[in-house]
Amino acid sequence: MDCLFCKILNKEIPADIIYEDDQVIAFNDINPQAPTHALVIPRKHIASTNEIADEDQALVGHMVQVAGKIAKEQGFDESGYRTVFNCNGHGGQTVFHIHLHLLGGKPLGWPPYFDENLKQPVA
Ligand code: AMP
Ligand code: ZN
Repeated sequence: MDCLFCKILNKEIPADIIYEDDQVIAFNDINPQAPTHALVIPRKHIASTNEIADEDQALVGHMVQVAGKIAKEQGFDESGYRTVFNCNGHGGQTVFHIHLHLLGGKPLGWPPYFDENLKQPVA
């Protein structure tokens, strides 16, 4: 399967891996949007959050827990951080192997978009 993140999992493409276990790996994002910007991905290929099956519930919960562990390791669990799954076009998903973004290390601001027009419903 021609999937960038499967290639990272198979070590066909290098990545700055910061966490690994039998279910997930985490690595630093190549284009960081915060002092820490890591991606937690399952070893199982799941294309988007629309494809999460009942049997994947514990795996996805584990991804969230691993993000919290990395935040603790990096010392910003108490100050806070953001975890994000982007889905498909409107969500801005560009890699179709689910990944949980972990952003932290500074105040991130809210809302997460930069264009006020995005608040408006589609006409
Ligand atoms: P998304 O837009 O939610 O699908 O996120 C994909 C993320 O993958 C982006 O933040 C990219 O910067 C990141 N990315 C793309 N290629 C690589 C790579 N080879 N190593 C690490 N991160 C990557
Ligand atoms: Zn994949």
